[in-house]
Amino acid sequence: MPMIEEILERIRSGEMKPSEHLEEKIEVLEHREPELNAFITKTVDLAREQAKEIDKIVESGGGEAFYGLIWGIKDNFALKGIRMTCGSKMLEDYIPPYTATPVQKILDNHGVILGKLNMDEFACGSSGETSYFGPTRNARDPEYVPGGSSSGAGAAVAAGIVDLALGSDTGGSIRNPASFNGVVGLKPTYGLVSRYGLADLAMSLDVPGPLAPDAYGIALAMDVLQGFDSKDRVSARRKLPFLESIDSFDPEHVRISVSESLLNGVDPAVRKTTEHVIRFFESKGVEIVDVDLPDIWAAFPTYYLVMYPEFASAMQKFDGIRYGHRVDASTLYETVAQSREEGFGKEIKRRITMGTFISMAKNAEWYKLALRARTTLLHMFENAFKQADIIVSPTVPTLPFKLGERINDPVKMYMADALTVPANLTGIPAISFPAGWKGRLPIGVQLMGPRFTDHILVSAVRFFEKEGKQWSE
Ligand code: GLN
Repeated sequence: MPMIEEILERIRSGEMKPSEHLEEKIEVLEHREPELNAFITKTVDLAREQAKEIDKIVESGGGEAFYGLIWGIKDNFALKGIRMTCGSKMLEDYIPPYTATPVQKILDNHGVILGKLNMDEFACGSSGETSYFGPTRNARDPEYVPGGSSSGAGAAVAAGIVDLALGSDTGGSIRNPASFNGVVGLKPTYGLVSRYGLADLAMSLDVPGPLAPDAYGIALAMDVLQGFDSKDRVSARRKLPFLESIDSFDPEHVRISVSESLLNGVDPAVRKTTEHVIRFFESKGVEIVDVDLPDIWAAFPTYYLVMYPEFASAMQKFDGIRYGHRVDASTLYETVAQSREEGFGKEIKRRITMGTFISMAKNAEWYKLALRARTTLLHMFENAFKQADIIVSPTVPTLPFKLGERINDPVKMYMADALTVPANLTGIPAISFPAGWKGRLPIGVQLMGPRFTDHILVSAVRFFEKEGKQWSE
């Protein structure tokens, strides 16, 4: 797969027009999409119109930052006038009247949008199998799941259908499919990218972010996506130097942690890949420090206690009256009940039930306990970052699994998130990058850093891409 820099160079130098690049991508789409099911809505006509416009702009010397690079957008971001389903029957016919901030930024910077990407229903899932529009398949081996919930994003980038994709991450939904498909995915610091126009899963955890074939693509995307937005109450007034510092990773001045508590019980190949990455950095002069993360086990139960009630509350608006699939019944109560019964899939109902249960006054203690645990985790990471600049872990404890293997075992499915949820609970940035292979199956490794060090993580991945080698067995 050509790297993002090469594609940009060919367009900038006039060797290839944006519209020619698009036609190449449409060919890949036609070839791969029937098997992968990575898209819910294709916007080929719109993309052709955009690319033609960008041809002219590039010809006259403009076109930055994206010069007609091809984007896919996870289907929980609004693009005005184009159906947005969130992977649910509930929103099968929903046409948003406005465009999400990150999507608008992509358009303003001459990105071409080829379509809205498949996803687990309302972003609830780790495998890409709960979409009302059918499962997506892994781009490296179609018998395997692509990971979730940004399943279409992971698969479409890995298959080379799109150059870049916009995903969202509440508990791992960018990093998990990046890991399972062998691409790079960044969950930015909470608040660094605006959530305006993203359908909430859990608003205190959600953050939009990019998936790309390489670190350069992530940096290019983040320079555009980041930045303050008055329409998002938690938006940060910060901008980080992504492209500017991409090649400035200095191994002599970085401390990387290895923590046994993040390697406990993981698949042997995943463990070997993670250790391989640590040894690589060590061989380049990085100081490796042992960091204890004694409370890390608490992240997993805490995530579910926080996420369920926030999710149940976000779902209340889908009543078939103002929003969503509608079943007309004889009473108002029955209309709402039946609309929700028909519109939502099984995992969504499970989460609404759990969230409502946890929110009941008599269960308030649990929620309070979860909030306290969240603070404990925050302090634990603050302490850890006094000793190390970057914490390394596997992204997912296991290799990609086969389609259907875990879908009826929610606890097993949830286990996939054990190592990704800590970053969401504490708001810190985390990146997953391809670091190993077991046969045809990619293995991702995760780097976490203190808040607003996203650009340093990207430069560390770039350094590995340039100087390191992927592990394989
Ligand atoms: N897999 C996790 C969940 O099901 C995370 C989802 C996400 O990040 N959107 O909640």
